[in-house]
Amino acid sequence: MTKTSIPGIHHVTAISGPAQANVDFYTGTLKQRLVKKTVNFDAPDTYHLYYGDRKGAPGTILTFFPFADAGPGRAGPGMASAYAYAVPKGRFVEWMERLGDAAVDFAGIDERFGQQYITLHDADGAPVELIETDRISDEVLDGFHSVTLWERDIGPTARLLTEAFGYEERGHETTGGIERLRLVAPGSERGNVVDLIRSDRASIGRPGAGTIHHVAFRARTNDEQREWQDRLLTFGHRTTPVIDRQYFNAIYFREPGGVLFEIATDPPGFAVDEPVETLGRTLKLPPQYEPIRDRIERILPPLKVAS
Ligand code: ZN
Repeated sequence: MTKTSIPGIHHVTAISGPAQANVDFYTGTLKQRLVKKTVNFDAPDTYHLYYGDRKGAPGTILTFFPFADAGPGRAGPGMASAYAYAVPKGRFVEWMERLGDAAVDFAGIDERFGQQYITLHDADGAPVELIETDRISDEVLDGFHSVTLWERDIGPTARLLTEAFGYEERGHETTGGIERLRLVAPGSERGNVVDLIRSDRASIGRPGAGTIHHVAFRARTNDEQREWQDRLLTFGHRTTPVIDRQYFNAIYFREPGGVLFEIATDPPGFAVDEPVETLGRTLKLPPQYEPIRDRIERILPPLKVAS
C-alpha cells in the first residue's frame, strides 16, 4: 500500500428511539439530507436511516437503527461517545442564530484545541457537536469533523490508530478530569480527526437509544480494504470477512478499548439504486428482502421528511 493512512471516517452508526423524532432532528434542525431509507439488513423489521450531504459523500454519513421501544443508553468507557460536524468557515454565528430561532437548547460556546464549538442534543439526548472550522463548503455542515472514543486506557487505541492507520498526535489536554488526545489523519480533511478521552470518574456505559453503535473508517477501493485487512492482521486484529452492505463493502473488528470499528469502501455509494436527485425518498431494500416488501412496508412506521 503506497498510502498508509486512513482517509478518515466513512460513517458513524448509532441507535435511536422512534424514527420520526430522529428524522425531524437530523433533517429539520441539522439540515442533513436523508440519503437512504432502508432496513436493518440483519433485522428487516426496523429501519436503517442514513443522513448525509446532498450527494451522500463518505465522511458525511450518520446512520441510525431506530427502535420505537429502545431504552435510553449512555456512553461510557469502551464506547464512542460523540460525533462532531464541521461548520464551514464563516457560518458558526449563523448556526447559533439558526438554533436560537428554532429554540434548540445548547450550552454556551466552548473551545477545544483552539476551535470554538457548541454541543446540542438530538431527540434521544445524544450529544452532537458543531465545531467551527476553516473548511470552505456550500453545504450547511461539511460532514464530520471528528468522533470521540471514550477509553479506559488511551494508549492501546492510540497505538492502533497511529501505527496501523497512520494517524498523528496533534494535541493533548486535560480539563475537568477528562484527558483528551487528538489524532489527525494526515492528507485528508473531512472526518479526519479522532479524539480519545479518558475520565477520572468511574462510569459504566449502557448501549441503547442515544448511543453510538460503531465507527466506520474509509477505504477508497475494495483493494485498499483488503490491504487494511492484511495490515490489521499483522497488528493482531482479525476482521470479519467482507460483508456486502449494498452501498459499500464492510469489514469489522473491535479496537483494543472495545469500540466496534468498521472499514467501509467508498464504492459503490448511495446512488447505486436510485438517482442522486431523489436519494432517500422511497424505501430501498436489498435483493434478499424484495420478495417480502409488502410485509416490511406494513410493519415500518410511515415517515414524514422535511424537504
Ligand atoms: Zn457501519
